[in-house]
Amino acid sequence: MTPLLCDSHCHLDWFDSPEDVVKRAEDAGVEVILSNATSLASLEKNIALSKKSRSVRCALGIHPVDLLSMDNAGIEGAFRVVEENISSASAVGEVGMDFKRASSQVQRALQERVFRRFISLAKAHDKPVVVHARWAEPQCLSILEEMGASKVHMHWFTNSAKNAGRAVKLGYHISCGPIIISDRPSASVVKGIPLENLLLETDAPVEFLGERAEPSWIPRVCSAVAELKGVSKREVSSFTGRNFSSLFG
Ligand SMILES: [Zn+2]
Repeated sequence: MTPLLCDSHCHLDWFDSPEDVVKRAEDAGVEVILSNATSLASLEKNIALSKKSRSVRCALGIHPVDLLSMDNAGIEGAFRVVEENISSASAVGEVGMDFKRASSQVQRALQERVFRRFISLAKAHDKPVVVHARWAEPQCLSILEEMGASKVHMHWFTNSAKNAGRAVKLGYHISCGPIIISDRPSASVVKGIPLENLLLETDAPVEFLGERAEPSWIPRVCSAVAELKGVSKREVSSFTGRNFSSLFG
């Protein structure tokens, strides 16, 4: 059956007690949580969490910011773990480029090289790719387009209507998180994204308005989208649930 409420992007391994976080989300009606790996240690933790709980799935990758503090052996080790476990994962992620944190040409070239390698890996295994793009939004879209990636989740991609529109044209999915509750420019970008392309996320435990987000916030994000678009919560949850299933299986 198609799930209704899904947290398409968070980081359960960053919590001290992920089991309690999952329980609170389940109690709030959240049926699926996609926890994204960011580093070598995080890969192992997310794989273990996805095996422990029926509602938890994992995406496997290296975050472009974590990448900057890894040496070559660490990067190769992470790729090995991803390749060994990719068949039981829902996606390759969180990967991408972050030019806010990568300031030198060498760092940016490293992020691009690793991002391209992850896209190839995702394509080879027919998995979606979960993309983090900050200060490099058009560059990430161009690489994905050039490499012919079709199963793409642009996470927290609500900073620019122009970039979001381009992602929609490419057939990509875009997730929006708790920021739309308080940030009007992000809310207006979400207003322009068709329900057919939308996913809900929390990016937990990232803080919003001084509070650590949790996957149990998904019903609040769903209500905010419903209000913005002038449709029922049920309509938002069924669209985003269907989108989740069609993208992540
Ligand atoms: Zn994230």
